[in-house]
Amino acid sequence: MKVFLASRNAKKIEEMTRILREHLPEIEVLGLDDVEHYDEPVEDEATFEGNALLKARAGLAATGLPSLADDSGICVDALNGMPGVLSARWSGPPKSDDRNNELLLAQLADVPDERRTAHFKCAVAFVHPDGEECVVDGVMPGRVIREVRGSGGFGYDVLFEAEDRPGFTTAELSREDKDAISHRGWALRRMAPIVARMLTS
Ligand code: IMP
Repeated sequence: MKVFLASRNAKKIEEMTRILREHLPEIEVLGLDDVEHYDEPVEDEATFEGNALLKARAGLAATGLPSLADDSGICVDALNGMPGVLSARWSGPPKSDDRNNELLLAQLADVPDERRTAHFKCAVAFVHPDGEECVVDGVMPGRVIREVRGSGGFGYDVLFEAEDRPGFTTAELSREDKDAISHRGWALRRMAPIVARMLTS
């Protein structure tokens, strides 16, 4: 039993495989590097859900396999929810986590501690060859600190303290601990039983 995950990120593929296998032990998750090359769509939707669906539909069209895709980012309250879907390219091309973090810190320089609230959000979409489509979300609330801290994770992790782990940035948590509270962890755990049901019904 195979599903396609429109991602080259080995960690994401491994995490999805692990969570799906709790529901379907025989499932195999193929990533972009396991299928014939196809042109990936431009992520130009205004929402995480829209971008995730766009990528999952393109995956199904290219591979014929039931397909999953995710889209995620950080939404900062003092910036009216931005960077949002623009998180990866917030400081412009070429993509750079360091420049994105510097820009975010500069934009929030005058924002007092009590207004530095933010959340990470992840949408995961699943599309099935029979036409069924489903999208679920996961959220991790927290706040943006004033200087980078920690060496794990990626992206904005060095600047983000989750509400559930005050005093630590998500770059200072173990992989397992971050997965347990993260936007992506919640969304994947929500999606796994749905995928299992759709594949076996
Ligand atoms: P993607 O959906 O995995 O491509 O992530 C989009 C962008 O959102 C990343 O490049 C990061 O800047 C940011 N992002 C998403 N999830 C996380 C996370 O768990 N930690 C830190 N940054 C994240």
